[in-house]
Amino acid sequence: MAKPWERAQQISTTGLVVNYRIPFNKPFIVGKELYYISQSVLQCQTSGDGLYTKKAQELMKGSFGAREILLTTSCTAALDLAAILAGVKDGDEIILPSFTFSSTANAFLLRGARPVFVDCRRDTLNIDENLIEAAITVKTRAIATVHYAGVGCEMDTISKIAQKHRLIVVEDAAQGVNAKYKGRYLGTIGDIGAYSFHETKNFICGEGGAIVLNRPELVERAEIVREKGTNRTRFFRGEVDKYTWVDIGSSFLPSDILAAFLYAQLENMDAITKKRQEIYRRYEARLQPLADRGLVTLPIVPPDCESNYHMFYIVLNSLDERTRLIEHLKAESILAVFHYVPLHTSPMGLAMGYHPGMLPVTETISERLLRLPMYYEMRETEVDLVVDEICKVFKVSPSTL
Ligand SMILES: *Cc1c(COP(=O)(O)O)cnc(C)c1O
Repeated sequence: MAKPWERAQQISTTGLVVNYRIPFNKPFIVGKELYYISQSVLQCQTSGDGLYTKKAQELMKGSFGAREILLTTSCTAALDLAAILAGVKDGDEIILPSFTFSSTANAFLLRGARPVFVDCRRDTLNIDENLIEAAITVKTRAIATVHYAGVGCEMDTISKIAQKHRLIVVEDAAQGVNAKYKGRYLGTIGDIGAYSFHETKNFICGEGGAIVLNRPELVERAEIVREKGTNRTRFFRGEVDKYTWVDIGSSFLPSDILAAFLYAQLENMDAITKKRQEIYRRYEARLQPLADRGLVTLPIVPPDCESNYHMFYIVLNSLDERTRLIEHLKAESILAVFHYVPLHTSPMGLAMGYHPGMLPVTETISERLLRLPMYYEMRETEVDLVVDEICKVFKVSPSTL
């Protein structure tokens, strides 16, 4: 006899149909998405740079204090665009963490650069700023930072190193939308930032992203490269009387239909963040007894950072313990997942000459990190259920609130 939750189907992001009582993620619809989409459709403004693209960009520019923000089809596309704007070319080297998604590396690899992986910090799991200078050579062109889990990298130190060595800083803020470092929004601190609105992130439109341009001289070229290498954006503004091919480029701009979806989400950014914070805090408080006994490590947000609570993870003491916990949760119909296979030990990384043992912190963390279910609509009772099941494995009682 199937249990009730086994009947409710959830389509995972990989397209597999899976049944979980507590899924890992549930995309959240705030309510006005279809209304805005209908407006976009009725106004026949469904290609890129229509009304809702402008509205979404203005909203973010105003909230984050960025010089310019342009929507893209994904964070991956924003990073590709960033690598072009950064002037990355054959033979350049780019410094980045290995503990990240493939897109951070691919953007530069596609321009002919070589990724140079640096180990991460044990506390935030962000790139270890103290290891960056040793990785710089005459070929280094840029540093790509990744704000893991929506917690900022040590940007002051990184910016100083970049200035000293005349390097460009690209922030992969895919997970860091609406989060801050020293009062500044992630993505607006380096030269260029990249955001993701993929359905697994905090604010979503299915597939989507944005590029943040923090230097005025980058804006005009960004508009051109994003519009297939043409000056069509200037033409629409009436600055030129016809538009033409002026540079390399591709189609980086999303349909206004997706921008309409996104705009409904962005209007609710703070409410969404607050709800995620409550879930995060409940996990943190109730799992504390496990941390006190040294059985798990809880995530850390440095005092300089304001998180957007993109994820809640725990770090176990061994790969075996993580495997055991995943199996137990799965048997209870709870999906918890791990993250990332380090880029330097992936098949691509190995093909580039990297090998296991080179980045010890990244390697040990990636074997032991477990992401717990986290989504806007997650109820307190659901958080408690996950915590209770974890505590059962360790035979420790959760703290009562
Ligand atoms: C999600 C993610 C990306 C990719 O974002 P898309 O919008 O799916 O292209 C890139 N980098 C990091 C760190 C991510 O978490």
